[in-house]
Amino acid sequence: MADEKTLFQRIIDEEIPADIVHEDERCVAFRDNNPQAPVHLLVVPREPIPSLEAVSEDDAPLVGHLFVVARRLAEQEGIAEDGYRTVFNCGGAAGQTVDHLHLHLLGGRTMSWPPG
Ligand code: AMP
Repeated sequence: MADEKTLFQRIIDEEIPADIVHEDERCVAFRDNNPQAPVHLLVVPREPIPSLEAVSEDDAPLVGHLFVVARRLAEQEGIAEDGYRTVFNCGGAAGQTVDHLHLHLLGGRTMSWPPG
């Protein structure tokens, strides 16, 4: 059977190296390898949910946990005071390229709105 693991599942399973900054029983966070800000982390659930579109009511505690981890990491990375952005890109038009749910945490610079 073909290996259908996502790229992020391979990182979680330590088959591909990444700069991991946080791990717990529900998620892993690592530095984006093409950072769009001085701090750019991805908070990824161990469960390979493909996108926000696939999130159900049962996943609500997990999704909440991703945000709590992002908030703690913002503090750890020293961006909490100035401010930061959290983003789920959902689907092609939003720029999602990896079909494994991931919360972007971006900070360390002033950001514009609306996003591109
Ligand atoms: P998205 O476009 O929202 O699906 O986000 C995917 C993110 O994963 C992009 O910001 C990429 O730069 C990042 N990315 C892709 N491959 C890797 C990798 N091997 N290690 C860390 N980040 C990655």
